[in-house]
Amino acid sequence: MSCHRPEPIPSSTEAQAVRDYNPFALMQPRAPQLAPREARNGARVIANNVAPQGVYLPNYNVLTPYMRSPEYVQMSTAAAITLGIMKGRMYRCECTRCLNLLLTYPEGCRANCAYCGLARHREAERDYADRNFIRVDWPAVPLEETIDIVARDGVASPFHRMCISMITHPRSDEDTVTVLRQWTDRIDPAAIPVSILSNPTTMTREDVKRLRDLGADIFTVALDAATPEIFDRTRGKGVASPHSWKKYWEILLDARDIFGTQKFGAHIIIGMGETEYETLALVQQIVDLGGHSHMFCFFPEKGSLMDHLPATPRDQWRRVQLARYLIDYRGVRVEQMRFDGEARVVDFGITPSELDEVIDAGVAFRTSGCPGKFAEDVSACDRPYGDSPPSNIASYPFQPAKTDLRKIRRQLRIVERKP
Ligand code: SF4
Repeated sequence: MSCHRPEPIPSSTEAQAVRDYNPFALMQPRAPQLAPREARNGARVIANNVAPQGVYLPNYNVLTPYMRSPEYVQMSTAAAITLGIMKGRMYRCECTRCLNLLLTYPEGCRANCAYCGLARHREAERDYADRNFIRVDWPAVPLEETIDIVARDGVASPFHRMCISMITHPRSDEDTVTVLRQWTDRIDPAAIPVSILSNPTTMTREDVKRLRDLGADIFTVALDAATPEIFDRTRGKGVASPHSWKKYWEILLDARDIFGTQKFGAHIIIGMGETEYETLALVQQIVDLGGHSHMFCFFPEKGSLMDHLPATPRDQWRRVQLARYLIDYRGVRVEQMRFDGEARVVDFGITPSELDEVIDAGVAFRTSGCPGKFAEDVSACDRPYGDSPPSNIASYPFQPAKTDLRKIRRQLRIVERKP
């Protein structure tokens, strides 16, 4: 199996061809439908009570087994291939450097985020463990078996980092602690550091402290939306979901206090209706607090409440990706940049030769996330093709080659200067 499947790029209307950003008015999610009572809260899976037999590969033509964290976790297809429990190859990637572990329950995530394949409104359509998330399937694997493989590989492990991804579920805080404990009992967190992708809605400051005390290295908060209005529309009241911007910021600031500088961060999705200036002002705010931002390019996830909307035009994505890198790693400030009447970046605040050097280095266009062992600005979490198809890469899960850089320059509309 190869990850490289030709896929249509879902944004080909005439209007799309001339627009180089996703405006707020366009990016309205559909309203969620309430699932029938008999499909709610994982009722089918619980009633069938099928015992799992080792690794479960998502398959919505069979009865989904009853699997529950902390005994079971889900992991990305890339992590399962890297771990050797699934066969396959990834387009232009040997492996992933981050083992993302996602908590799993028959009841699933209780939130309804409009861009997310795991959201609650899908209950009637697909059991939780069978739902696609950031464009791929997430096999469910016994936690013990996962830890056994990583412990057995020892220093030869390909993983530079492990990340526990919480979901919105009443057991999520407690089970994150158990997964972290079981991991650090067997794996030295200095050898493979652990990140927490948190769920602030159910957390307190004490929970954040507990995770730090148990050996977590980095704590991240998936704001996802760049403004309170977009947050509310995509993750809050707008889609009958429990999250609030205020609570997310409360936990983000707790993480800053408890984990400290360079040890916390925020996820932001680009292209859900925010302006480029709004995003980059937020990136600057997070840098000024001492953290980093990890960016995703909006992609219309199949089955989500935004699957009818266009992926982020590459122009907008590349401008924000480049500007974010300059703010996060090159000490450029948003105040040095210039924006046009629609708040698009028109000047990155550095000289053309400095800009050439950053573009040619290519790191700015790689997937952003918590660092691995190669360099501070190279993410362990490379999420291959999590925000685009391989045929039109948004975040490069590898070092872009010369041909990739030529394409990136065309997307940025910045021509290469002759030496
Ligand atoms: S809380 Fe996370 S997993 Fe749950 S629906 Fe929202 S984005 Fe998806």
